[in-house]
Amino acid sequence: MAAKIRRRGSDRYNAIYQAAAKLPVEYLRCRIRGHKWSDEETVDPLTLNESRVWVDCERCEAQRYQDWTLRGQQKGSAIIYPKGYLIADLGVLETADRDIMRAVYLDIAKAHQK
Ligand SMILES: [Zn+2]
Repeated sequence: MAAKIRRRGSDRYNAIYQAAAKLPVEYLRCRIRGHKWSDEETVDPLTLNESRVWVDCERCEAQRYQDWTLRGQQKGSAIIYPKGYLIADLGVLETADRDIMRAVYLDIAKAHQK
C-alpha cells in the first residue's frame, strides 16, 4: 500500500506547514531527528522495589521518565514536553503530517546553509 501524501495547498497541508514553520527550530529538529537525551540521569525512588529514572533532552528541554523495578522491568514511562512543543488544535499527527514538518525543516536548513 502506498503511503498517504498530503496534497500541497490542501487545508491540512497549509495548517501543518504554518504551524511547523512557527515552531522553534530546536523543537522541529527534535520532532524530526528524535530527542537528544542527556547521558546524565536522575533517579527518584518510588517504592522499595521501583525507581523513576529521569533524563532531559539537551535540545528542546523535554523530560522523560521511566519507572524501573530492581530487576529492570519497565513499568511505565512518559515524556513531558515543553510548552508549545505539541502543536495544539491539529490532533494526532499522521505520517503524512510529519512529512510536511520535514519539508519545513528542509526549507529552513537550506536557507541557513549559505
Ligand atoms: Zn528534544
